[in-house]
Amino acid sequence: MKKVLSIAGSDCSGGAGIQADLKTFSAHGVFGMSVIVSVVAENTSRVIAIQDITPDMISKQIDAVFEDIEVDAVKVGMLSSPACMDAVAAKLLQYRPDNVVIDPVMVAKNGCPLMDPSAVEHLIKTVLPLADVLTPNIPEAERIAGMQIHCIADMETAAKTIHRMGCKAVVVKGGHAIGNALDVLFDGRKFYRFETARIDTKNTHGTGCTFSSAIASQLAKGLVLQEAVRQAKEYVTTAIEHSLAIGKGCGPTNHFY
Ligand code: PLP
Repeated sequence: MKKVLSIAGSDCSGGAGIQADLKTFSAHGVFGMSVIVSVVAENTSRVIAIQDITPDMISKQIDAVFEDIEVDAVKVGMLSSPACMDAVAAKLLQYRPDNVVIDPVMVAKNGCPLMDPSAVEHLIKTVLPLADVLTPNIPEAERIAGMQIHCIADMETAAKTIHRMGCKAVVVKGGHAIGNALDVLFDGRKFYRFETARIDTKNTHGTGCTFSSAIASQLAKGLVLQEAVRQAKEYVTTAIEHSLAIGKGCGPTNHFY
């Protein structure tokens, strides 16, 4: 069985973060592991508090996994501070795992920041170059690339700009745009577009986490990048189609439909 590690934040309400990642791994038939970087007290409506795990404990969790288990892919999610970024980046550099998918999580859908906004430059310098695939949504891509995105051509320009910063491939996710849900993949040579009809639901909590974990799972199973992204998009689309009206806010996607 392929083994996939999530390095991310814990969402106690179960829809996003580590919890979404582990559900996604199980749904893909891969063995899921988790290194918790932050504990987030949150639900479908709001983020109440964030407590980072100490950098030493983050490093020790990563050591514990890598000294014992062969890791086929890594998904990196919420890194709230430069200290968390440094701890994770140092260990990725030490162990050099294959198939590193990094979701540069900045702000939750309900508007609550999950990363110190002043840490974006640090993320770009220390973490971004370690990604085989970086998966920003449109606001994140705008922030990283330093430009506004109004159309598909802008998404492609941003993907190219971000690729030049050192990651091997970029998927700019169009879920925050209007119209069809169109994602753009740039692998350094070619652009690929993936388009699905927009699903009319407010229950999209954790979609970004689910998508990046699905890509990591598919890469672990040996799919080439564009096929991994295509299948991950199909998976997340189905998960949104069958999303769950749990909680009073934006409910979670359905990982096991
Ligand atoms: N909570 C945690 C711990 C996360 O890692 C993420 C990831 O993006 C979110 C919340 C955001 O969830 P969403 O914006 O999909 O509601």
